[in-house]
Amino acid sequence: MNLYVHFPFCRSKCAYCALHSYVERTETERRTYVDGIAAKIEAFFASSGGKTLSTLYFGGGTPAMCDLSGLFDIISGQNKSEDFEFTVELNPLDVKSEFITALKKGGVNRLSMGVQSFDDATLRTMGRPHTAEQARTAWRMIRDAGFDNAGIDLICGWPDETGGAWMRTLESAAALKPDHCSVYTLILEPNTRLAHDVERGRITLPSDDAALAELAAAECALGGVGLERYEISSFAKPGKECRHNLATWRGEDYTGIGDGACSREGNAVSRVIFRLRLLKEGFSPIKAAADFPELASRVDEWTETLDRFAAEGLLAFSGDNTYRLTGRGTEVCDTILAELV
Ligand code: SF4
Repeated sequence: MNLYVHFPFCRSKCAYCALHSYVERTETERRTYVDGIAAKIEAFFASSGGKTLSTLYFGGGTPAMCDLSGLFDIISGQNKSEDFEFTVELNPLDVKSEFITALKKGGVNRLSMGVQSFDDATLRTMGRPHTAEQARTAWRMIRDAGFDNAGIDLICGWPDETGGAWMRTLESAAALKPDHCSVYTLILEPNTRLAHDVERGRITLPSDDAALAELAAAECALGGVGLERYEISSFAKPGKECRHNLATWRGEDYTGIGDGACSREGNAVSRVIFRLRLLKEGFSPIKAAADFPELASRVDEWTETLDRFAAEGLLAFSGDNTYRLTGRGTEVCDTILAELV
């Protein structure tokens, strides 16, 4: 089983963010929310029939704004797989020695820190509440606390962080030698401060080509410290891929608990096509139909679509009946997935 728990509280709202989160909530309101989550997690385990938990992900928002100790107690008593992965998302300002120690004690074995940039001017325009130096200090504390599976998130394609500033961000990220790095291409979400500024002409977004060039530069810089690109936006040292996300892309069920969290239980099409995002594994219509016989009627249609993209050089077809994204294909993966759906 794979479980995602959402904590929709943030210190401030980032300029680009359209995720569901509350900025002004009292401690009592947050405690009430966590009590509700605890009841739902207990109900989830009670209905699971003793199945083992493979991955657990506390995301947000900012989980650190909540008291997680009661949740750790509930989780500690459950059946878990041998390679159980328990990730908590962090903001650099969350990384305090007491909190990190509590995470370790609570069984957390993977941390994901949202840094987004190592350029202070960029961080300010993003509305991030931390500096680059605070992110570096937080990273040292994470390593000093003994977390040997930890990663950071970056955003590429930010309007003010072109050229040299992005390269400095990549150098700083690589210097930390993270186990994992997610590099998300900026998406202009409606009703955000960024969208508002773009509409009024205060900010101009870089072209798609410029953003893709930044992603390519990330692949190069992170490759230099041993992180392989294994998914469109994800880079990891071998063996340090995010198992929770891998499970999602490979088509396993997952359950989401909390405001704004979604679950996938039994939707056969979305179980299989997201395998295409995994650069080495790829997507095989024949294997998909073998795994889920109800999809057999889609094989011809999918094969025709995938062959068309392969002819354009966006996919590579191999003898194991599998289609994998080429370098150019990674740039248009969403278009290919939309056609497959
Ligand atoms: S990006 Fe993360 S920290 Fe910023 S507002 Fe969105 S959920 Fe909160």
